[in-house]
Amino acid sequence: MSGCYLCPRMCGADREAGEIGYCGMGALPLVAKSGLHFYEEPPISGENGSGTMFFCGCNLKCVFCQNKAISRNEAVGDVMDSRALANLMLDIQDMGAHNINLVTATHFADTVAEALRAVKDKLSIPVIYNTSGYERVEILKNLDGLIDIYMPDLKYCSSELSEKYSYASDYFAVASEALREMYRQVGKIEYGEDRMLKRGVLVRHLVLPGARADSAEVLRAICRILPKDEILVSVMRQYTPEFAMDCEYKELKRRLTTFEYESIADMAIKLGIKGFFQGAGAADTKFTPDF
Ligand code: SF4
Repeated sequence: MSGCYLCPRMCGADREAGEIGYCGMGALPLVAKSGLHFYEEPPISGENGSGTMFFCGCNLKCVFCQNKAISRNEAVGDVMDSRALANLMLDIQDMGAHNINLVTATHFADTVAEALRAVKDKLSIPVIYNTSGYERVEILKNLDGLIDIYMPDLKYCSSELSEKYSYASDYFAVASEALREMYRQVGKIEYGEDRMLKRGVLVRHLVLPGARADSAEVLRAICRILPKDEILVSVMRQYTPEFAMDCEYKELKRRLTTFEYESIADMAIKLGIKGFFQGAGAADTKFTPDF
């Protein structure tokens, strides 16, 4: 990697030579935490837990990020090359996890692909690519055949909001193309005999305070971009203002109202979207991984 162009930031940082990219990371992946995680959607976490690998750094850096402890440049984790990542995946499988859940691996996509190529035929559980959705199609193509379940966010339609909260005015244009590529690779949702998710695309949308109109646009966009009967959508209520207290936007410093969330959930049902909703109790920092 001489000059990194792995993500849509295309910042060109020479990570091999020690430069740090916009994502905050150097050449090798840093894994902040790994193990069984029980707070994903039911057919992802199941009874045994999802085998999460939380990568440090992020190419989006949303002002309200609940994983700030690991997404910012100063994040601390274990340095892992592709061989170490591959071994960790096997260890997670041995722990009894329902899946390998790669959480925000975008900026390490090349090393992750190398690890998966080495170990994929030894994995009997699905591999999940859990992402903000801010991905380059060209890079996703390198993961074709290695990922079983794509779990992208679709955070915004509005370029004004995506610029303001995530410094990415092109977020929607980029993420919608990424979603199309993800669906092209894995196709329609499939469950295993254990009723756990085996294959497909699960799109997540976090409803933000004061952004109900954009959430409605996001749901309509999902139905335009992908065949709604062949995917799952998670309408998330877990926005916690505690992580936005240091930002300049007053509107983010409160919880969602019941009306804000339920009106979007109702709309999802009216649109015929299938998937998951969350109760009011989801908006609690106790559900945020402790890094
Ligand atoms: S992955 Fe990081 S270093 Fe590479 S282009 Fe994106 S922000 Fe820059």
